[in-house]
Amino acid sequence: MTLQLPKFRDGMSIGIMGGTFDPIHLGHLVIAEEVRHQFKLDKVIFVPTGYPPHKKASNVTHPEHRYLMTVLATINNPHFVVSRVEIDNAKGFTYTIDTVRFFHNYFQGKAKIYFITGADAIMEILTWKDYAELFSICYFIAATRPGYSLNNLNKTIGSVCPQALERIQVLEIPAMQISSTLIRQRVADGKPIKYLTPDSVADYIMKNGLYRRREV
Ligand code: ATP
Ligand code: MG
Repeated sequence: MTLQLPKFRDGMSIGIMGGTFDPIHLGHLVIAEEVRHQFKLDKVIFVPTGYPPHKKASNVTHPEHRYLMTVLATINNPHFVVSRVEIDNAKGFTYTIDTVRFFHNYFQGKAKIYFITGADAIMEILTWKDYAELFSICYFIAATRPGYSLNNLNKTIGSVCPQALERIQVLEIPAMQISSTLIRQRVADGKPIKYLTPDSVADYIMKNGLYRRREV
């Protein structure tokens, strides 16, 4: 159980920002902060994945590294906290529905929960486990992301699950064409990552030799 989790109080609004965070970067932080501001959230809880089902486990950096980088990146924002709920899951990965249910119960079903995603993630939501239940216990914020279109969102989701559309809000975000893939690639190529991720995360990556190209 994460020590930093906010205490429950009536009328709370909570954001959940799920991700692999391999590594966390300014794109993640900008969307979390913008959603927090626009939706007047009390807290945003960052939830790094365990070993995600859609990425080959061997390709994903050890959860403890990803967790620590997420803590470093969020340390100077009093509204941001990091949860180990997925990382500590014994099965190695957790579905979003399990995580949202966990927080729904933690806040006794009384907090308004917003799950924050980028445009790419929301377009895949109908492939998520128990998505209909997800739409009944939380709201979704779909943040714009360069390179991904939300033009078909209403059509794609509306044709399968029309009631879900009432639970999804699109939020225009100052464009950040940054991805974890880009950062991993830049480190492997020996290019700088300063100003793409907080300095503390860049330092952590260098200190621990993450993402360096393996010698063959
Ligand atoms: P990878 O390249 O490894 O897939 P990523 O940058 O997409 O990494 P994730 O951890 O996969 O990061 O993403 C977590 C969440 O953050 C997802 O909902 C994703 O859509 C969103 N996100 C990531 N980067 C951005 C960005 N630059 N702008 C808007 N949303 C983003
Ligand atoms: Mg991604």
